[in-house]
Amino acid sequence: MVLLDGLGDQGQPALGGSTPLEAAHTPHLDLLARMGMNGLLHPHLQGMAMPSELAHFLIFGYPYGDFPGRGYLEALGHGISVEEGEVALLARLLSVDTRGEHLILEEDDPQVDPQTCKALQAEIQYYSHLGVEVEFRPMGGIQGILLLKGEVSPKVTDSNPIHSGRPILEVLAVEGHEEDPRAVKTARVLNAYLVWCHRKLSKHPLNRERKRMGLPPINALGTQRAGAKRKLTPFQEKWGLKGMSLASVPIYWGLARALGLKAVPVEDSGDPEGDLKERLILAHQAGDFDFIHVHTKAPDEAAHTKDPQHKKEVIEALDRAMGFALDTMAGDPEVLLVITSDHSTPSSGAMIHSGETVPLTIVGERVRRDRVERFNEVDCAQGALGLVKGRELMHLILSFMDKAQLQGLMDSPSPRAYAKGPSKPLTIKEPREENYGP
Ligand SMILES: [Zn+2]
Repeated sequence: MVLLDGLGDQGQPALGGSTPLEAAHTPHLDLLARMGMNGLLHPHLQGMAMPSELAHFLIFGYPYGDFPGRGYLEALGHGISVEEGEVALLARLLSVDTRGEHLILEEDDPQVDPQTCKALQAEIQYYSHLGVEVEFRPMGGIQGILLLKGEVSPKVTDSNPIHSGRPILEVLAVEGHEEDPRAVKTARVLNAYLVWCHRKLSKHPLNRERKRMGLPPINALGTQRAGAKRKLTPFQEKWGLKGMSLASVPIYWGLARALGLKAVPVEDSGDPEGDLKERLILAHQAGDFDFIHVHTKAPDEAAHTKDPQHKKEVIEALDRAMGFALDTMAGDPEVLLVITSDHSTPSSGAMIHSGETVPLTIVGERVRRDRVERFNEVDCAQGALGLVKGRELMHLILSFMDKAQLQGLMDSPSPRAYAKGPSKPLTIKEPREENYGP
């Protein structure tokens, strides 16, 4: 599964109304579309703007309600263990301005040198209140994980308002958990900690120094996307496929670890073509795995620069790398090649991600061939796959792999999606007289 992160886009005025993928010259992806069956994919409901980790979770066939939260997955990705009952949140240093009793976000991504970052983070590393231990664990730059231990719950809201000009938010128990003592306590502890952080950081000599230099102060912490460990059926048990994930970003390593896929960290060199090609070569050589997730963040990152032309060029570089997949995987009867994305990332406008579908192409020996000629968000809509939802994709993959279980067969206590899974054989014992009636 080649996953081109954030590949989908909106019609871009700067490209005459085309999406960057439509506007791009993509001969290899187009040939793959001609060889296979095409459609559109949305991880959940069309129109919903999905974050990558949740989109991946759904595409890998897990139910929305079982999502453990980004804070937890990010912690796992950075090798921070989160035990049962603990809570992990994303946390980052912010620049805020005081207005009356509120803190107004000036800068969500303030520029800070590594030494200042380290010193300020050390200042707010440990805190405890109402029997809850709070620890800030740095993840590089202004970002970190906030680990909470005690009677805590992940059912709390974010404090980081993301958009400049909005106030830092009070943490609240989420709907349905207003009476939940753990959620209420978690919110109280976080609010107290955030106020404490603001006081400590504001007084720090490094911030006085920054003020003298005309730099914005780094004087607050913002938290978001609380998560906690939860029991998830391992990928291999769920789908009968031994899985591997090749990705360069820690959140995918965390997701792979949470689902029992082998996380293989790879690096981004600044050359999207070379990086994707290297990952495709690794996937091609990984003989011991049945399912390989080959990920590149390049289209998403290009879209976040809000330059449609740049995204188009990055897509063209990725297409050149896909020449390797075309030569070695498409046409191999042992390979089912799935090319898709997790969500749309619009390369103009205010949204972080947007809710449109992404293209989906599947090439394999048993896969129907349709009449689609080009790989993009509009042409793939004419394909024979139609609209595929996240929770359907793994079932489709099993079917194309000749492995889907006939629904209704019960050869194990829990219904399985794949045929010939683990089962318990009947034991023939020596018949004993008393077992047989008169
Ligand atoms: Zn993504």
